[in-house]
Amino acid sequence: MKFNQFVIIGLGRFGSSIGRELMQLGYEVLGVDRDEEKVEEMSGVLTHAVVADATEENVLRSVGARNFDCGVVAIGDDIQASILATILLKELGVKKVVAKAVSELHGRVLERIGVDRIIYPERDMGIRVAHQLVSPNLLDYIELSKQYTIAELNVPDCLSGKSLSEVNPRGRFGCSIVAINKPKGIIIAPTASDVLAERDVMVVIGTNQQIESFQHSIGQ
Ligand code: ATP
Repeated sequence: MKFNQFVIIGLGRFGSSIGRELMQLGYEVLGVDRDEEKVEEMSGVLTHAVVADATEENVLRSVGARNFDCGVVAIGDDIQASILATILLKELGVKKVVAKAVSELHGRVLERIGVDRIIYPERDMGIRVAHQLVSPNLLDYIELSKQYTIAELNVPDCLSGKSLSEVNPRGRFGCSIVAINKPKGIIIAPTASDVLAERDVMVVIGTNQQIESFQHSIGQ
């Protein structure tokens, strides 16, 4: 389902960053915050920004929250407010509700009340940074499940000039290179004769163990 209109509750660092990016991407965004200063700061950036307490049902109704496809509850510190705003958005019929959690317990409560996606910004970013610190060539990764990951890896010197059949990560470790991002463009589903070069980025899919073994073999 493609969403076009977003309502963001809480315009702190997290909420305002999501709002700015959605605007850049060309979407409509309504920002709601009870803090007048935050709303003023974002009023020239978002489609609309209103000062309101998102824990009050009539307030959310009056700003037309139910007409939005997706709601983001970006309140962290005030867990009660986060939960109330989330329940209200769900009850008003917002199709998808995404909420930020500041602790495991907060996340568990959000899960119980039917949030479609829970985000732990500090925890997740911490995990990401730790992975990147120990594997300097790891640019980014997505955990597909507890076991499977897609990782973006810089091509190290030792692989530069080698074809995929020579590198052979599938035969050696069980993981596959599913794309090569080259400065000139991306090759999706590369063939055995495609050659890696310095400054390319490999997109690798496999189990965590397989990708780790591959990284280890190329000194990452
Ligand atoms: P961030 O890390 O995103 O800056 P934070 O965790 O430091 O956020 P929070 O207390 O989570 O700060 O609040 C985020 C924003 O949510 C603040 O701007 C705050 O004014 C707003 N907010 C909190 N409660 C409500 C509410 N009931 N209605 C509307 N806005 C609220």
